[in-house]
Amino acid sequence: MKKNILIIPGDGIGQEVTTWGKKALEKVAEKYGHDFSFDEAIMGHTAIEATGDPLPENTLNKAKSSDAILFGAIGHIKYDNDPSAKVRPEQGLLKIRKELGLYANLRPILLFDELLDASSLKPEVLKGTDILFFRELTGDVYFGEKTRSDDQTFASDLMNYHRYEVERIAHKAYQAAQGRSKRVCSVDKANVLETSRLWREVVQEVATQYPDVETEHMFIDNAAMQLVKNPKKFDVVLTANLFGDILTDEASQIAGSMGMLASASVGDGTGFFEPIHGSAHDIAGQDKANPLASILSAALMLEIAFGLKEEAQALQNAVSQTLKAGWRTGDIANANTADEHRLGTRQIGQKVIDFLQ
Ligand code: NAD
Repeated sequence: MKKNILIIPGDGIGQEVTTWGKKALEKVAEKYGHDFSFDEAIMGHTAIEATGDPLPENTLNKAKSSDAILFGAIGHIKYDNDPSAKVRPEQGLLKIRKELGLYANLRPILLFDELLDASSLKPEVLKGTDILFFRELTGDVYFGEKTRSDDQTFASDLMNYHRYEVERIAHKAYQAAQGRSKRVCSVDKANVLETSRLWREVVQEVATQYPDVETEHMFIDNAAMQLVKNPKKFDVVLTANLFGDILTDEASQIAGSMGMLASASVGDGTGFFEPIHGSAHDIAGQDKANPLASILSAALMLEIAFGLKEEAQALQNAVSQTLKAGWRTGDIANANTADEHRLGTRQIGQKVIDFLQ
């Protein structure tokens, strides 16, 4: 299979981890006889420094003409400490999602048995958890009008949703549920928010087209609690942008670390594959970042964008074997991890490639 893949490393650990996502794709291509060609582009703080623009035109053009994108992360401490900065790294990410029509963010909470003890939750609560989140990605309060009064004493962010925005992601979630355990839990705040009332109404309508799938509606506050109390009760979770942002970070603790979770953003155009973590200034440039989420994002790309299920599974197996052999980065190590099993980004990345071989 011949594919053009765009690599956008972004900022901080994004650059370190994406190197290994790319190496994994190269190894898969070599092993299975595919012809993957790679190009690279800048985004975020790195792009602001180089061009003044967090998403340069050249990056967007390359993104639109590629078959899939492997992204790292954006962000820089300079902007976290200066909320008034007008040009910001995250604008690049929000814009590329909008421009590529990436309205659905899929986040599988894949729990490796070897990491049951890496989570702060009890193994017996976690074992058997398998959740697939569908987070709406191009609407909600993130994209609504933002205002600040002249005297700086008032601010507002408009939360809004159109019917079609809810419909299209709901269909994706129900279709996925049909291939899983046929259950969808739609999370909202319909007791308080008008956008949530519309959300629930539309989901109820879409649900009638999937009579084989059972639907549950849950308020976000309850869902946040249930997720740590009894994560096994969830299968496909469908939710809006803001709620999904928070719930999926919470769910990352089920998998042991943010460094283990991959995501796929899909919609009308080129698919975008990325770890769920940010640029992690605290560990950037120190060879401490866990690259497994980037490698698992590459596996998602193989499966979702290219339909290469066997290759995706092989990559996932290589990650699993690496963990089974006891290799750990700092974020997934615990008191029982021997010093010689604690590896840096480069060493653990190479282990996965070796197992893939
Ligand atoms: P973060 O995800 O970067 O880090 C949170 C914590 O998890 C940190 O302690 C970090 O060291 C750890 N961590 C994250 N990924 C890890 C990995 N692969 N291996 C080991 N440890 C890992 O979130 P944050 O600290 O809230 O934000 C840092 C910057 O990232 C900010 O500028 C923020 O705006 C940006 N950000 C970007 C994205 C994105 O690009 N998609 C997402 C979230 C945050």
